[in-house]
Amino acid sequence: MKKVTSIVSIFVILILSFQHVSSSPFLYASQVHVESSGGRNVKQEQEHAQEVRCSRERSRAARKVIEEYLTPFVEREKYKLSSKCQLHPENDIFGDQEEHKLFIDRHEWRCGYCKKSFRAEKFLDQHFDNRHYNLLNLSHGKCLADLCGALHCDAAMNFKSSRSKCNPAASARNRYLCESLADNCFPISEGPSAGRLHELFLHQFCDAHTCSGKHKPFSRGGKDQSSFLRLAAGALILVLLPVFYLFLYLIQSDVKGQTQELRRISKAGWKTKPS
Ligand SMILES: [Zn+2]
Repeated sequence: MKKVTSIVSIFVILILSFQHVSSSPFLYASQVHVESSGGRNVKQEQEHAQEVRCSRERSRAARKVIEEYLTPFVEREKYKLSSKCQLHPENDIFGDQEEHKLFIDRHEWRCGYCKKSFRAEKFLDQHFDNRHYNLLNLSHGKCLADLCGALHCDAAMNFKSSRSKCNPAASARNRYLCESLADNCFPISEGPSAGRLHELFLHQFCDAHTCSGKHKPFSRGGKDQSSFLRLAAGALILVLLPVFYLFLYLIQSDVKGQTQELRRISKAGWKTKPS
């Protein structure tokens, strides 16, 4: 029986350690982890912004927020965003260029249009600005970076310290922009899945536009978190399964041992009875 109690204690320790991992700050860190922008050429960005009036870097931040904290839910509902919705990939001026970025390794980025290689992403960005300017998707004239206020790009990318002072007027403006995005992209009149996504959008992005600090952005979680949890659950099952079988085996052998002992006692009892 000692063996059995030791196995039970292993079980308890494993479960407790899993709970510790899931509540650790690592989860949040993995949520907000983004590749560092690494001293992007600000001058180039400004020159470019004058021509296009849309920041490539902030558009990228907005796209990452959408892919991380909205797309998984939209896909789960099998909902099709209308092209009128500003969150639709078609409305990203830089969308096509970003799709033509080939990441080879940490020190090599390749242009998908002309196959030229670059040491860093920022050089490829400059190359796009200089050589493939004609391939910018200007037809819609929508700038994804304009949505950064509503989508909490700064919080997601750690651009600014979260302790920076909250401006009530800016919060109200962002909330209005956020709610109009929810109305345009997920009109409640379109059916139950649009209604569910409308509500999710408000919780995920709009509720946090207040200075009360009561609501955090991305309260419904994102892609990283769910994949991490799935990974952790898979690992836990892999660890626990053999322990469970060992546990069963020990119980069985324990029961067998006890019945053998009972048999021996009863046999001894039968033998002593006649005398
Ligand atoms: Zn090129």
